[in-house]
Amino acid sequence: MIYADYAATHPLRAVAREAMTASLDLWGNPSSLHAAGRNAREALEGARATVARLIGASPSEIVFTSGGSESNTAAIRSAALHGAREGKRHILSTVIEHPSVLNTLHALSVEGFEVALLPVTSDGYINAPQVAAAIRPDTALVTVMHANNEIGTVQPIREIAAVCRRRGVPFHTDAVQTVGHISVNATELGVDTLSFSGHKFGGPHGIGVLYVRKGAPFTPLIPGGHQEAGRRAGTENLLCAVGLAAALEEAVNTMDGTGVLLRSLSNALAGNLLNAIPSIRLNGCPRCMSPYCDSPCSLPHIVSLTFDGIDGEALVYRLDTEGIAVSAGSACTAGSPDPSHVITALGLDPETALGTIRISLGADNTDEDIARMTEAIVRLVTDLQAF
Ligand SMILES: *Cc1c(COP(=O)(O)O)cnc(C)c1O
Repeated sequence: MIYADYAATHPLRAVAREAMTASLDLWGNPSSLHAAGRNAREALEGARATVARLIGASPSEIVFTSGGSESNTAAIRSAALHGAREGKRHILSTVIEHPSVLNTLHALSVEGFEVALLPVTSDGYINAPQVAAAIRPDTALVTVMHANNEIGTVQPIREIAAVCRRRGVPFHTDAVQTVGHISVNATELGVDTLSFSGHKFGGPHGIGVLYVRKGAPFTPLIPGGHQEAGRRAGTENLLCAVGLAAALEEAVNTMDGTGVLLRSLSNALAGNLLNAIPSIRLNGCPRCMSPYCDSPCSLPHIVSLTFDGIDGEALVYRLDTEGIAVSAGSACTAGSPDPSHVITALGLDPETALGTIRISLGADNTDEDIARMTEAIVRLVTDLQAF
């Protein structure tokens, strides 16, 4: 099988599996005072310290959660609550956010917040002046994703965070697609909160992190016990925290070489397909096609393509029967007959947007995979277009 859906989930890394296996006997409750508890606590705090070091944070700024969705929801709801206490009920975001952000914002709008979603360019970018112009005295939060999961565009988060800091507005970023893939330093980015998820870089499912800047006000989504320094109640998911930390360590240590390899593979794939089917639309960064491009404006491994006159899901199913795993839009919208909100935000009409697939590569993909995928996609698209 050729797996090319790494943006939906990254296969569990062997180092994560080994770290988790080695921790299976740490059954103590990390909150217990006895030896069994202390052993578990030590492993948990070891994982926290590793994660903190790898994202340029201090351990006290790391909160373990159940995943990216919870981290986003917790950060956004906390900022909304604190804003509302000061009479601020305006929230600024973008039209291309992940559903975990958009649906939380939608819920807040039903609860009386005013949500404004900034548009993106036809390449999928927003910029800091756009954010600056839209901030109001009653803005409670700005939340902009670091990289988009469907088209791979990387936003200028450092600049946007600086604008928000100058204006005294809390800033959150959904960094689920960047942590473990490109260099992310939470302190240097200057954000108040930042979320990411273990399974997107080879850790287990069901564990995520919320970085909360020291001094940033925070009210937990799940109050209760005093775990995670009162920021997320519930007995900690020690095994998954250990797995996430081990996966992140390997991901960060190998990211430079992997990034060059993946940019070269994805540019080869995009180039091959454009040669064979010139009417293809490449969504996101207008690629420079150089394997050595370390462009900060797009992820090296995501290729989003729109084909005329076909159904992206039909193509995904046909590829699957040939042992090639890719995605139509994103995993989070799979099975929905609606076109992707990200692709339509680029200006494509809904009908055309349905002809989109996302290929997201990983370090296990080879030149041979690219050749096989090119051949299969060209043949199946031609077939579907004739249909
Ligand atoms: C996958 C993803 C999430 C959700 O993370 P989970 O851990 O699956 O809840 C949030 N944001 C982005 C950009 C994602 O790609």
